[in-house]
Amino acid sequence: MVILNKPLDGRPRYLVINCDEGEPNTCKDREIIRNDPHKLIEGILIAGRAIQAHKAYIYIRGEFVNEAETLQLAINEAYKAGLIGKNACNSGWDMDIYIQRGAGAYVCGEETALIESIEGKQGKPRIKPPFPADYGVFGCPTTVNNVETISATPTIMRRGGKWFSSFGRERNHGTKLFCISGCVNNPCTVEESMGIPMRELIERHAGGVKGGWDNLLAVIPGGASCPMIPLSLADKCFMDYDSMSDVGSSLGTAAMLVLDKSVDPIKAISRFSKFYRHESCGQCTPCREGTGWMAEMMERLEVGNCTLEELDQLDKLTYNIEGRTICALGEASALPVRGLIRHFRPYIEERIKQYQATHPKTDGHH
Ligand code: SF4
Repeated sequence: MVILNKPLDGRPRYLVINCDEGEPNTCKDREIIRNDPHKLIEGILIAGRAIQAHKAYIYIRGEFVNEAETLQLAINEAYKAGLIGKNACNSGWDMDIYIQRGAGAYVCGEETALIESIEGKQGKPRIKPPFPADYGVFGCPTTVNNVETISATPTIMRRGGKWFSSFGRERNHGTKLFCISGCVNNPCTVEESMGIPMRELIERHAGGVKGGWDNLLAVIPGGASCPMIPLSLADKCFMDYDSMSDVGSSLGTAAMLVLDKSVDPIKAISRFSKFYRHESCGQCTPCREGTGWMAEMMERLEVGNCTLEELDQLDKLTYNIEGRTICALGEASALPVRGLIRHFRPYIEERIKQYQATHPKTDGHH
């Protein structure tokens, strides 16, 4: 959490809770709100007091209609019981909580786009700096954090930081909500210790890969934007930041999509490319144009209608987007494509060869 530790300067401070949860496969914040919304409310009071904010906004994904209602009921209950509002919990601290519903744009999960949206503008990311800690909602110092982190705060405060850090591995402490979906026998969201072996997580909680572990093709470990991990690496890795980075991926939202051997990985990533093309807000040329090119090339690649040179171009394009955009969506769109080419190049080349064999060249084009 970015802590607002500067002296007060007369401007109010805000706490913003990111409950946009638009990342494909990810449904962990939703579970907290459905099943234990008061945990979030308690966490907001603690975090709000810590950063000296009297107001918090929960920005919730528009499609979460039932969850927004559940949350509003819980907020009403908390007001009625004197747990929030004026003199919250008799602490002398005033804390108001408001819900703001989004309208379905993935990019509003980016903190500055989310802030713009709360202000009633189009949800488009801002250039940073200034960072929200200096200039956030309504131009005031703001901390943006997500539902899972804020909801963990009350238990950590009660049981102590030492207890929480007793879970996990060196530099990767604590617990985490993992969502496991795709080709598994029992898709679920589960809280586990950080650093649990990927295979153990899938087998203990999700009933294993359909058809057995050896039927695994690859795992996309943390939402759509993380490069896939093939079976050869999935066997050895742990679900934490360092291990995921060691195998060339990232933990992301810790929402794993399991692909078995019945899945066409080119089609799967092509589907993601279409998603990113649709969700790009269009402010940066590399993202606006790049997501379109990638989606178009991936669509052709699905049937193998592509040359080997174009495959290299596609790979290069992913590097040309990375680091050249306002927000991380550009990079997020590029990484799954790069991961596919890195791990499945022979498979892709075979598809191209098959296409070329059945579609003879005309004018140098296929
Ligand atoms: Fe918009 Fe894409 Fe630029 Fe992000 S990277 S600001 S989504 S155009």
